[in-house]
Amino acid sequence: MSRNAESTAFRSALEVIRAVEPRVADAIGAELTDQRESLKLIASENYASPATLLAMGNWFSDKYAEGTVGRRFYAGCQNVDTVEALAAEHARELFGAAHAYVQPHSGIDANLVAFWAVLADRVESPALKKAQVRQVNDLTEADWFALRRELGNQRMLGMSLDAGGHLTHGFRPNISGKMFDQRSYGTDPATGLIDYDRVAEAAREFKPLILVGGYSAYPRKVNFRILREIADSVGATFMVDMAHFAGLVAGKVFTGDFDPVPHAHIVTTTTHKSLRGPRGGMVLCQPELADQVDRGCPMVLGGPLPHVMAAKAVALAEARRPDFADYAQRIVDNAQALAEGLLSRGATLVTGGTDNHLVLIDVSGYGLTGRQAEQALLDSGIVTNRNSVPQDPNGAWYTSGIRIGTPALTTRGLGTAEMDQTAELIHTVLTQTTAAANSDGTPSKAKYALDPSLADKIARQATDLLAPHPLYPAINLT
Ligand code: PLP
Repeated sequence: MSRNAESTAFRSALEVIRAVEPRVADAIGAELTDQRESLKLIASENYASPATLLAMGNWFSDKYAEGTVGRRFYAGCQNVDTVEALAAEHARELFGAAHAYVQPHSGIDANLVAFWAVLADRVESPALKKAQVRQVNDLTEADWFALRRELGNQRMLGMSLDAGGHLTHGFRPNISGKMFDQRSYGTDPATGLIDYDRVAEAAREFKPLILVGGYSAYPRKVNFRILREIADSVGATFMVDMAHFAGLVAGKVFTGDFDPVPHAHIVTTTTHKSLRGPRGGMVLCQPELADQVDRGCPMVLGGPLPHVMAAKAVALAEARRPDFADYAQRIVDNAQALAEGLLSRGATLVTGGTDNHLVLIDVSGYGLTGRQAEQALLDSGIVTNRNSVPQDPNGAWYTSGIRIGTPALTTRGLGTAEMDQTAELIHTVLTQTTAAANSDGTPSKAKYALDPSLADKIARQATDLLAPHPLYPAINLT
């Protein structure tokens, strides 16, 4: 395909949009400029390919397709069937999964599908069997009341938020915390690593229905074989949310004990983080859960998004190419170079380093909260996000950490030498930023002081670092 084709495609699309609402066309163009100019270190973001982006912008968006491939509640779904089947096939092949469900609209939705598939399998189905009926509508009022109580009375054990777990793993502000009685396992305070003996102990005491593995801010590999053994020892279903590191599994950087797919009963993921696809979710599972998973829509999902499933099929096809494995390895090489660059300059990192795509800096050593550090870095053209560290004294809003990740910069082509330069920029900003006081003299967790001329200088250096690696080089909107 000619490089011109991408420019023409996006330019024409913007022209069509501009004719209706020019401010939207302008915002889309401005977003490209912003993304091109910023040093994007948000661990959960990436840059999808032009093919993936274009697969989303079309008339597939107009189609209702509740149901599954070949079994729809709407007529005329033959083309949706094609893309959904393709996306599922690519997912199965890529991850070596028995079954793939590609309809979830996001990671949260994928987790909801998984939770309800397990609840249906382990709580609802036995209740139907016991009552000798085929479906819930056939239950008596009394049996239905008892089943609803039972569904709402189940237990989940997952990683604690401040150790790097995710809100959707049973925490109260999320629906999962309202559905399940939840307990958390944390990390060893001395090493920051998961202590599997403690997880086993917690599982023995709590006896969860579901043991959840996976994280959004844990910078190390997780041994899924051991977690599965723990789940088996207490009769729990083992679920892994690999939203963050799916790209590393796809690229065969995480194999054996560190690949969740052969070990977990059910695996959920987003498709837009290290996997580099469209914004969306996906569920992979063992055959015995497949029927329940396929009921995700309409159980907890609205109608599928065929345009996004088309883009998932494109992105998953890309991830099956040999160069994706190389990309995945470079993500980790870059994260390790960034970690070494920070450590050698005196930063404190949670667990002392990384073996995945992310690095968690404990910024309390710089005398800052995560919020102050995040803003000072943003002023300097470096986009990160604040994050709790284990046993964080500043809570989830201000935090004491900065999470940085390499999937996006690796997509742009930056390598380990540039990661060392990035570490220098980050360290300079953090050492030159000071915590400021509130107007009444009390210490502020949000206010900070950073010389604006230094921030400008760093932002220019960040732009220089990016210049040899243009984002979407084939796309010229002018
Ligand atoms: N699971 C994990 C581990 C995540 O990190 C995230 C998002 O950050 C999600 C689920 C939710 O994904 P989404 O924002 O697509 O709903």
